[in-house]
Amino acid sequence: MDLIPFPLNPAVEQDCPLLTQMLLTPFDELLELDLKRARIRFIRHTEGKYLAPMGEAAYEDALHYALEYMIHPSDHDAYFQFHELSTLRQRLEASDTPGVLRASFRFKLIAGGWRWGSEVLIGGTVNGAPEYVAYSFLYDGGDLAPGQAGTADSCAMRSELTGLRREDSFFSVGRRLLSAHPANWCVVAIDLEQFKLFNEWYGREKGDLLLAKVGAMLNIVEQNTGGLACYFGQDDFALFVPWESSVLERLFTDIHALIKEFGTSVGFMPALGVCRVEDGGSIEDLYDRAAVATRHAKENFHTRIRLFDPSMYAKTDADYRILSEFQRALQDRELFIVLQPQCKTAGGKVVGAESLVRWRKPDGSLVPPGVFIPVLERYGFIPDLDKYVWEEVCAWQRSWLDAGRTPLPVSVNVSRIDIYTIDVPDYFDLLLEKYSLPVDVIKIEITESAYVDNNRVVDTVRRLREKGFLVLMDDFGSGYSSLNMLRNLNVDIIKLDAHFLRMNDEDRKGMQIMESVVNLARTMGVPIIVEGVETQEELDFITGLDCQYVQGFFFYRPMPVPDYEKLIASPENIDNSGFFLNAREKLRMRDLLYQNVLSDEMLNSILGPAGILEERGEQWTLTAYNHRLYDLLGVERIRDHMHEPLELVPEENRQDFRALLEQAQTAAQAGAQQAFSFHIADGVVARIRVEAFYLGGSEGRKTYYVSMRTAS
Ligand code: C2E
Ligand code: MG
Ligand code: MG
Repeated sequence: MDLIPFPLNPAVEQDCPLLTQMLLTPFDELLELDLKRARIRFIRHTEGKYLAPMGEAAYEDALHYALEYMIHPSDHDAYFQFHELSTLRQRLEASDTPGVLRASFRFKLIAGGWRWGSEVLIGGTVNGAPEYVAYSFLYDGGDLAPGQAGTADSCAMRSELTGLRREDSFFSVGRRLLSAHPANWCVVAIDLEQFKLFNEWYGREKGDLLLAKVGAMLNIVEQNTGGLACYFGQDDFALFVPWESSVLERLFTDIHALIKEFGTSVGFMPALGVCRVEDGGSIEDLYDRAAVATRHAKENFHTRIRLFDPSMYAKTDADYRILSEFQRALQDRELFIVLQPQCKTAGGKVVGAESLVRWRKPDGSLVPPGVFIPVLERYGFIPDLDKYVWEEVCAWQRSWLDAGRTPLPVSVNVSRIDIYTIDVPDYFDLLLEKYSLPVDVIKIEITESAYVDNNRVVDTVRRLREKGFLVLMDDFGSGYSSLNMLRNLNVDIIKLDAHFLRMNDEDRKGMQIMESVVNLARTMGVPIIVEGVETQEELDFITGLDCQYVQGFFFYRPMPVPDYEKLIASPENIDNSGFFLNAREKLRMRDLLYQNVLSDEMLNSILGPAGILEERGEQWTLTAYNHRLYDLLGVERIRDHMHEPLELVPEENRQDFRALLEQAQTAAQAGAQQAFSFHIADGVVARIRVEAFYLGGSEGRKTYYVSMRTAS
């Protein structure tokens, strides 16, 4: 077994002999969950297998990260419920095997694709109550023989509700059957469409009854065919059976008939996705493709049975092509940097540049960064690219200094995946040391979306700035901002994209947006670089707003390094007085809202979903909201609930929601935040992070600013 770098909590270990037993079976990941402090700590992690945040983190953040990057979208709800902190301790204690919970989810592999993993949570008190610590073990679903790693847990092979086998059993037995059965078998993924709504309309009990009935029916299919039937939880079922279209049509009709026993609405339908064994691949692959086909089945009201077709996966294949070529391309130096000058608005003198990566294939064709960068990000390979780019930039700066030239700073792009997977500040330290560079020749651009409620990013920015790096917030105004983020903006420079100026509407909305952002930035003392300035008119507008810096085709396009060298070799082309940074003023939330710093355009277009809640005794009112809030919650829902806004929160969460607002009142500067379930349009319940600020009150009236964001 590999080394365990961090110790377990000895007091829990002593209390919980099960832990020692679990440590003896091979596992991929081990985490400690401190339920009292709501923090998690990585103890062991198998390198290079799954994408995972390392070290220690707030539980909420880690959960959020997992949902965003690690867990298969179809498993999000189950994963979230399994990890719901507020009930975790009770569930552990009430479990059939006290102190043990177990579930399986699909985890994303760094190498691409998904793999089933079984998570076993073992909880224990620290020398009795009230502290409570749990350990989470992740076992590779593929290697988990029934009853082996989980000797201690009573988790049956079959689901109680439906009587069907669970996924572990489906995949392990399925693997054996697959090697024995000829190509004319298939995997069928079955989904009951709008099942959540079904639960809402008819009640959960009826929902469970329907699931049980479908289970009983599929059980018969299993027995009659000698195949397998499985219940994955929620409304997801699967079959591994001989392929015969008439059987599937019959199955569709039978399930539909079961649904119709509860009501005649036509909206509730099964959707069947099918992948045939002859398509090749493991049982997991077959299921994944069948599940993809299910989504396509839902698109068309008339064809609720869809056979998998590789074009449904086209995007993924293209991803794989990029990933498989990327490593070689890096070695063969098909990837290289170009530099785009950043200029003074007045006069256009060069103050620095941004490094942008380019990929030229041997046949001379260019792969656009907008194509390969998102793929590398999605699969966790962006740090390989970025480390290469950063090093190229440092090496170039060294050579420039060695030539005795005047240095100008160069920006590098840092993706949020870099921040999760490597220690970015330490890495830059190493680079500066390796190339003996002063800190002010490198600037660091981090895109706005990375900042959202993310401690690790905030911490990274703080450490970089402490080390003396200038940090720029890239793509500002892409719509992720919450007011809190604006207020606490801990960056040196904002980059704002001029595409707002090209928003083609009569009321010159884009211009108003630019204007209000620039005003806000000025109030806060943060300089702006306007990116993407293409025309004289745009430059004039920017000049009118008194923005000092631009980067755009109007002055220069991104250029090969030798061209840039030629450009800045002439002193008359450059201005090396550095970026002009002002002292920062501390703003109060209330001032931001009430001193006309925020225009309507800003509230509607820059900020994420937000609104103002007013409380008068027991009477709540949503007194204002922006367009994004209505995109999120649905116009009608908002209109219907203006005077009872708390009803948008499911009843079981309402108490916590009020508690959050109270907390916001106590912590007037910092505000308060938490994730909740919300009723959004179409009867769907979604996890949404809420951030609340107390704005003040008088005569029994209290006002709060509330911003929201989907949690996954
Ligand atoms: P970004 O960091 O916001 O880079 C600015 C993008 O705007 C560049 O696109 C640049 O060519 C383009 N641009 C600059 N001026 C103008 C203009 O006047 N008009 C128009 N239409 N476009 C202009 P590019 O090079 O295609 O890069 C796109 C994005 O890819 C970058 O956006 C950045 O997010 C990412 N990227 C590029 N290089 C790297 C890299 O080395 N690492 C990482 N992580 N991301 C990179
Ligand atoms: Mg950039
Ligand atoms: Mg940008």
